[in-house]
Amino acid sequence: MADRYLHLTGTAPGRFLTRRLGLPQPTPLRRWTLETPHLDGPLLHLTAGAPAVTGVAEALRATGLTVTERADRPAAIVLDATGVATAAGLGDVHAALHPVVRSLAPGGRIVVLGTVPSPDDHHQAAAQQALEGFVRSLGKEIGRGSTVQLVRIPAAEAGGTARAAESALRFLLSPRSAYVSGQVIELTAAAPDPVADPAAPLTGRTALVTGAARGIGAAVASVLARDGAQVIALDVPGAREELERTADRLGATALPLDITAPDAADRIAAAAPDGLGILVHNAGITRDRRLANMPADRWASVVEVNLDSVLRTTDELLKAGAIPRGGRIVATASIAGIAGNTGQTNYAAGKAGIIGLVRSLGPRAAADHGVTVNAVAPGFIETKMTAAVPFFIREAGRRMNSLSQGGLPVDVAEAVAWFAQPDSTAVNGQVLRVCGQSLLGA
Ligand code: NAD
Repeated sequence: MADRYLHLTGTAPGRFLTRRLGLPQPTPLRRWTLETPHLDGPLLHLTAGAPAVTGVAEALRATGLTVTERADRPAAIVLDATGVATAAGLGDVHAALHPVVRSLAPGGRIVVLGTVPSPDDHHQAAAQQALEGFVRSLGKEIGRGSTVQLVRIPAAEAGGTARAAESALRFLLSPRSAYVSGQVIELTAAAPDPVADPAAPLTGRTALVTGAARGIGAAVASVLARDGAQVIALDVPGAREELERTADRLGATALPLDITAPDAADRIAAAAPDGLGILVHNAGITRDRRLANMPADRWASVVEVNLDSVLRTTDELLKAGAIPRGGRIVATASIAGIAGNTGQTNYAAGKAGIIGLVRSLGPRAAADHGVTVNAVAPGFIETKMTAAVPFFIREAGRRMNSLSQGGLPVDVAEAVAWFAQPDSTAVNGQVLRVCGQSLLGA
């Protein structure tokens, strides 16, 4: 279902009318294309206090943008606030960004770099936590399709360098992250795995995507194939025709299989005899009813598809050694799993469960198997699922976020592909909301 309001506000009379009525003014977002892979303008590098990590300048250069310390119209601003350790030090954050925030180009990016505070310094913890409130507020007020995020890098004493942040910066400071805003990403000190071919970083990896016949899963399969992965697209046998069409289009292999089948993990492992480099749990269903009206089967089917099968197949594939070192597991949560939603106790329970799974398994999977585990939490994404939502609820879902519009399946897919990059090793146990900074669960 096309977003007609976004088109209306893109016309002069539409803009005039909606402004007069005080209605939201969404800015059309620019996504990645082969012709326009980068933001259009320089990257302004600012510092607040004495930096607590090294290598920030090199990490910024690796984004491919022109890095400068002065710019009239930057496309991106990175503020190194890793050294802010006191309440007084927060004044440096204001002093750095206040004079330049208005000059950011439309569709621009602000990334604040923070650090993971030492457990015995509550002043540093307070100052670093303050950055979170700052970033989330700036995301809400900046407008014009721009986004603001916080990336926490472990302090130098904990082995942190800005190298760990390179893949995060490349993603956040590019059109690939158009619908991600107000997010906090905490990195580990793990060294990035090498990328042989930056133009096709997933070359040589097999990626399996569940629920890939349509919607977000088809977009994930498409972006992973674009980045060089050999894709296996899995969906229920009932969706075989649509699945085969999607797989053919991408040069992928179709695997018609219900993910809840008892032998699902074995069949997945058999489909990837050389190992599964990337496993994307995307399949999901809704069976909405208020709890008082929800029969046990509606509860069970949602928890079974959205959570239990994810736990089971992940455990079995890891145990069987089917996911080699350097592997990436990405699961799909939802903002409903963070904020809750009327009529979705089953769905929100399952999606919140995914968040628990990722946070707990991430560090252990890295230690035991050299594999990272992360999740995307989509907000309102324009798919068949959301097209079926009644008009007023749909409109509220679209507008109630900092970018005043719904996201596209490709926005979720780009986030998944970022987690899947070989050099995203330091990104682990994270839940990234792809929701335009939805007001729900903020
Ligand atoms: P969709 O309904 O368009 O696609 C889901 C796909 O999963 C379908 O092709 C379906 O056949 C498949 N599937 C369902 N049960 C399966 C099973 N047992 N085995 C294998 N495949 C199965 O949904 P979508 O909007 O593309 O959503 C994809 C994921 O994103 C889901 O996990 C969903 O909960 C989540 N999500 C979507 C939104 C949104 O706004 N669309 C928001 C938050 C989260």
